[in-house]
Amino acid sequence: MPLIDSFGRKVNYLRLSITDRCNLRCSYCMPSDGVAKLHHQDILSYEELFQIARAAVALGVEKIRVTGGEPLVRKGVVDFLRRLATLPGLRELALTTNGILLEKMASELRQAGVSRLNISLDSLQPETFARITRLGDVQQVVRGIEAAEAASLPIKINMVVMRGVNDAEITDFAALTLQRAHAVRFIEYMPAVPNPQTASLAFPGAEILARIGEHFRFEPIGKDRLAGPAKNYRIAGALGTLGIITPISNHFCGDCNRIRVTSTGRARSCLFSNHELDLRPLLQAGDAAGLRQALRACISSKGDMHSVSWQESGALENFAMVAVGG
Ligand code: SAM
Ligand code: SF4
Ligand code: SF4
Repeated sequence: MPLIDSFGRKVNYLRLSITDRCNLRCSYCMPSDGVAKLHHQDILSYEELFQIARAAVALGVEKIRVTGGEPLVRKGVVDFLRRLATLPGLRELALTTNGILLEKMASELRQAGVSRLNISLDSLQPETFARITRLGDVQQVVRGIEAAEAASLPIKINMVVMRGVNDAEITDFAALTLQRAHAVRFIEYMPAVPNPQTASLAFPGAEILARIGEHFRFEPIGKDRLAGPAKNYRIAGALGTLGIITPISNHFCGDCNRIRVTSTGRARSCLFSNHELDLRPLLQAGDAAGLRQALRACISSKGDMHSVSWQESGALENFAMVAVGG
């Protein structure tokens, strides 16, 4: 029986964070001094994460995205993914990564059963990339993308657009789709880290499309059933596609199909909800029925929409994207 929330939305997608650690320090995701590292014993074991995934799939979840922090920094991630891929009923196993470690891992991820990769890349310019990520070398990500291509992994490239930071590169990213069969997606910056400049960083989706339209002719295209909230387009003659994701200027909560579980075992009904349900006691008690019931309760408690804007952070408190997994 499909999982339906109290607003009639079918929930079939779990975003599962497996670590709070990261090898980058992106300015929009965590404060400059980083976030307090959790103790090793607070992070769920792979066995516990698997129990959650199994319970979710038994309830009707068809797509799992493994995220973090940076999922590829956690030791044993490939074996964990291989095990997840065996879950009967799971149709899509996706991974979101910053791509830094991808060059060496792409081929084994493919073999483990990962069906697609989302690679976060906000700039193609070395200095801008280093400024946004506070640490990163863009060439490592570029080599990671090439390795993923060589491994025949379908790729989405996600760019968070910030005014005055990387918006000058919107057309360069759009142009990537001319020669490569990737989905390049432009995501509105969300006010996730307390930042007095939030409003000035905002760059609405409509303006992103207008910017692309100054250089390219493009048409809307459809999407498949398990696809995310992007509105998709193709530049005439391009191999790849463009997507615009507008969580703030034109939210898609009415079609929301997802829940999240953090690496500490907290089920979260909405990205921006402060309400979390602790699954650990159920995991520790080996209570599989209780676990399924808790996931159902999480789905039932989903709100109808968020109230975050570029001017008002809504009910956001103590929120760090790195801890929730995006
Ligand atoms: N480390 C991985 C990565 O960066 O892809 C996975 C975790 S990261 C939290 C997941 C996604 O959240 C990334 O695509 C990142 O760009 C996005 N994200 C983080 N903070 C954001 C913000 N303030 N606004 C929009 N997207 C954000
Ligand atoms: Fe790390 Fe991803 Fe957050 Fe960047 S967006 S700091 S790579 S978790
Ligand atoms: Fe779903 Fe919450 Fe995201 Fe809206 S903000 S799409 S309700 S998770």
